[in-house]
Amino acid sequence: MPRSEIESLDAFRQRARAFAQKLGRVTPRAAASALRADRSDEEELAEVARERELQRRLFDANLAGVCVPREYGGQGLTPAHQRVLNAELRGREYPARLQVPTFTPCLSVLLEFGSEQQKLKHVPAILRGDELWMQFLSEPSCGSDVAGALTTAVRDGDEWVLNGSKVWTTGAWWSDWGLCLARTNWDAPKHGGLTVFIFPIKSPGIEVQRIEMLNGSKEFCQEYLTDVRIPDSYRIGAVDEGWTVGSRWMFFEGMGNNSPLVTMPEGTGRATHGSGATMHAIAKAAGTLSDPRARELIGEAECLHRVGEALKRRIGQGIMTRKLPDKASNIHRLYAGLAATRRTTIAFELAGPTGGAWVEEDGDLAEWGADFLMRQAFCIGGGTTEMAANNISERVLKMPREVTHDRDRPFREVPRSANKASADE
Ligand SMILES: Cc1cc2nc3c(=O)[nH]c(=O)nc-3n(C[C@H](O)[C@H](O)[C@H](O)COP(=O)(O)OP(=O)(O)OC[C@H]3O[C@@H](n4cnc5c(N)ncnc54)[C@H](O)[C@@H]3O)c2cc1C
Repeated sequence: MPRSEIESLDAFRQRARAFAQKLGRVTPRAAASALRADRSDEEELAEVARERELQRRLFDANLAGVCVPREYGGQGLTPAHQRVLNAELRGREYPARLQVPTFTPCLSVLLEFGSEQQKLKHVPAILRGDELWMQFLSEPSCGSDVAGALTTAVRDGDEWVLNGSKVWTTGAWWSDWGLCLARTNWDAPKHGGLTVFIFPIKSPGIEVQRIEMLNGSKEFCQEYLTDVRIPDSYRIGAVDEGWTVGSRWMFFEGMGNNSPLVTMPEGTGRATHGSGATMHAIAKAAGTLSDPRARELIGEAECLHRVGEALKRRIGQGIMTRKLPDKASNIHRLYAGLAATRRTTIAFELAGPTGGAWVEEDGDLAEWGADFLMRQAFCIGGGTTEMAANNISERVLKMPREVTHDRDRPFREVPRSANKASADE
């Protein structure tokens, strides 16, 4: 087919179907979320290697980067083609760890703001599964207030020297590259002195420490950057204009699995994407399908699912046709966080005692207790639901902005608590 022609959806579907049929079926265990303590490091690394291989297979089959321009190794097709691929992959294994944050927000940011040289180097490598990316955004002193970054980059000739600390980077210990927001100008106001950089996570001066959660998972990491030297060619966008990049970065992060760059089999995820059908299967396994309370809960989950899907379409179309501002994505983010938390609670209630203490053979009833313990992560990761509510009121409904004391003064002069780093330290 000439490169200028767009492949028909039917032809693409046939190719995608033939490819999907060669993939293994996903077991409930494999579909379980990250941040679990049920895998050894060796098992985790083996899964990462397996997912890189799956990505490579997608690439070799001309199915990687469906919406990525062809000059960077993608297919140059449309979101409709991506939806077809996701539908054909239903119930099949897929490279889960590569989707968020590698494909979005990191790849999205690279495509929009990267130099030609950066795109030619990294985009094909990402599509081949050779590079896994992480976002170095949150810091010990700022998570919601991302623009308050204290990690500092100082120019030294053709290089930059970075110092600071980033935290809550899921999977940094098995990833390759980081996308990092750093302060390059302490004399400019908070949002005016930031710049975005990229670097290999295994660069000299970067120490990755794993954080052990109460459940024993060590997927979260904190990174300490000490005199990390990187070339200026690792800068994304203009110096001190990192917030222009950062705002779009947040937008792409908010899209998460809904981004057209993400390959995710339809129906993947448990509570996150689980509809009434998921809950029906749980109640069936628990033998409570005729229980009125169980039926009520199944109905509630189905409503949450359907409203979420309709909202996603409505907001997506609104943003695409510019009838809604980009910040309207926060409406879906707020809903999705609250709904996923509620659905996890419903699933746990339906699973009954087996949801709290299970063995693998318990099938649809298993593991809901672990999901229940992690349910609040849906309202925190990717920006909290409280911040989404702020964005909706201020940036969509145009209500008065929250009073801030740091917007119009040099960041160096913004008071910080005694235990937080200052510009002079
Ligand atoms: C599963 C998961 C994965 C993550 N992965 C990454 C990652 O890969 N990379 C990364 O950089 N970070 C990651 N994070 C971190 C995440 O982005 C932050 O936890 C989040 O932005 C909140 O920041 P914080 O934890 O510092 O909380 P804080 O900002 O300290 O907030 C504490 C509480 O105060 C509320 N709050 C704060 N400011 C306001 C305000 N102005 N108005 C109203 N309420 C407010 C918040 O909503 C929250 O409830 C991840 C988090 C989770 C849960």
